[in-house]
Amino acid sequence: MTRVALIAHDDEKPEIIDLAQSYEDALSGFDLVGTGTTSKRIMEETDLTVERKESGPLGGDAQIGAEVAEDRIDGIVFLRDPLTAQPHEPDISALLRICDVHDVPLATTRTSAEFLLEGLIRDETDG
Ligand code: PGA
Repeated sequence: MTRVALIAHDDEKPEIIDLAQSYEDALSGFDLVGTGTTSKRIMEETDLTVERKESGPLGGDAQIGAEVAEDRIDGIVFLRDPLTAQPHEPDISALLRICDVHDVPLATTRTSAEFLLEGLIRDETDG
């Protein structure tokens, strides 16, 4: 099953919830994983089930990066706050790097996230 990771910085949580609601039907057919607070908020606001990792500052990004290294993840939506420095910036950089190494698509904006999800939905439909 297609496995997708969902991560959003605090400023972007309303956006990722809106995205999850817009794509709820398609996402319900995916295996979802996410950082702690992002997962919790999405599950509160939709009927989706998201496997909850640690919160980002406590290592959630690193946990998702480990899954990328194991080729378990097909795509990541990571809506970042470009204006606020994050305490766990090294973990975020590591996640971006490991996605580049493994050619795992990672979207950091709403529009690129929609393209990414559309691509994964198409691949799933093509079998
Ligand atoms: P959170 O983590 O979903 O627990 O807020 C996101 C992050 O900042 O990486």
